[in-house]
Amino acid sequence: MSEVTSKEVLAQLSKVKGPDLKSDIVSLKMVENVLVKKGKVIFSINVPADRAEELEPLREAAEKAVEMLDGVEKVTAVLTAERKPGSTPVRPAPTSAQAGNVPPPMQAQAAAGNQKAGVPGIKNIIAVASGKGGVGKSTTSVNLALALASKGLKVGLLDADIYGPSMPRMLGITDKPTAQGKILSPLEGYGLKVMSMGFLVEEETPMIWRGPMVISALTQMLREVAWGELDLLIVDMPPGTGDAQLTMSQQVPLAGAVIVSTPQDIALIDARKGLNMFRKVEVPILGLIENMSTFICPKCGEQSDIFGHGGARSEADRLGVPFLGEIPLHMNIRTNSDGGTPVTVSNPDGPHAKIYKEIAGEVIARLDAESADRPQIVFE
Ligand code: ADP
Repeated sequence: MSEVTSKEVLAQLSKVKGPDLKSDIVSLKMVENVLVKKGKVIFSINVPADRAEELEPLREAAEKAVEMLDGVEKVTAVLTAERKPGSTPVRPAPTSAQAGNVPPPMQAQAAAGNQKAGVPGIKNIIAVASGKGGVGKSTTSVNLALALASKGLKVGLLDADIYGPSMPRMLGITDKPTAQGKILSPLEGYGLKVMSMGFLVEEETPMIWRGPMVISALTQMLREVAWGELDLLIVDMPPGTGDAQLTMSQQVPLAGAVIVSTPQDIALIDARKGLNMFRKVEVPILGLIENMSTFICPKCGEQSDIFGHGGARSEADRLGVPFLGEIPLHMNIRTNSDGGTPVTVSNPDGPHAKIYKEIAGEVIARLDAESADRPQIVFE
């Protein structure tokens, strides 16, 4: 079966009537970002933000129309809020003069040939991902971000895990962000600039953000936030490898991705899926982290490998991606993260903070390797 083209998709969409029931959605210039890959079609329909709910049937009609084309396996249409063309400024060229004592870090985004519109002021965006939930992706994200900040870098943390935003809890932040026009100010936690859907909606009402608005919500959290100058933005991705993750990896100018997995085989299968997703969209894999790697009994000191041990390291070797380190299963990691005082700041000289800092060092080394011809990060 021949591969469907975006031209055919547009031709089909021009049969779908717009909200005025006269012109079609293509003539009305509502259709944007048509992506076709191996029978999967993704596109967005630009609608006024206040009519998104009401126009859900339009989105469904557009999906159905495209589904009827030969060679189409899956269609995802997302509603995006109206935005004036060109309102997202393209990332400026790197400058050599930088505030603070951190010389210009490498521009892995540019080195990776990443042509997606960048976010002004943010030098590198790194995704922390996992093939499935519950492996400790958010715990790793927050501690990794804090460990990177402890090295003198300006770091932001975007909690893109909108299905279960955990950064307000993990960083003990209860304030709400303020807005200047449509730009939100990020909140601060232990020196990190943080944005999370958890700041914007009550825990009981995340439903309104599910489905078609997911991508536009994530895009807004990335692009309509006053991040300021950042060396690194860590994105705690939604778990899994579905359409939201794929679209996000395609639309965000990622310098690289870090995959978190537990050691057991089943989690590694999921990790492999995550890895393949980033490979498909040509985002460099910075490496694999094994979380809940081993358990040292606090009473007797005996080591127990509850979820096995070393699986991620051997898998990384097999797949030819860097192995970034092992984080043990430890009560302190859980109680501190869940209690709003991540171990990297509550016990900065302790054994667990040391592990996160070592992993942070590895991440920087991998970013450097991805942009070998660029200036390196140098610490004080
Ligand atoms: P995910 O983001 O993958 O869903 P979380 O980071 O929310 O996972 O972690 C799930 C639970 O496991 C949390 O209660 C967290 O505190 C705990 N946890 C994560 N990593 C560790 C670890 N290395 N040791 C002990 N508990 C951990």
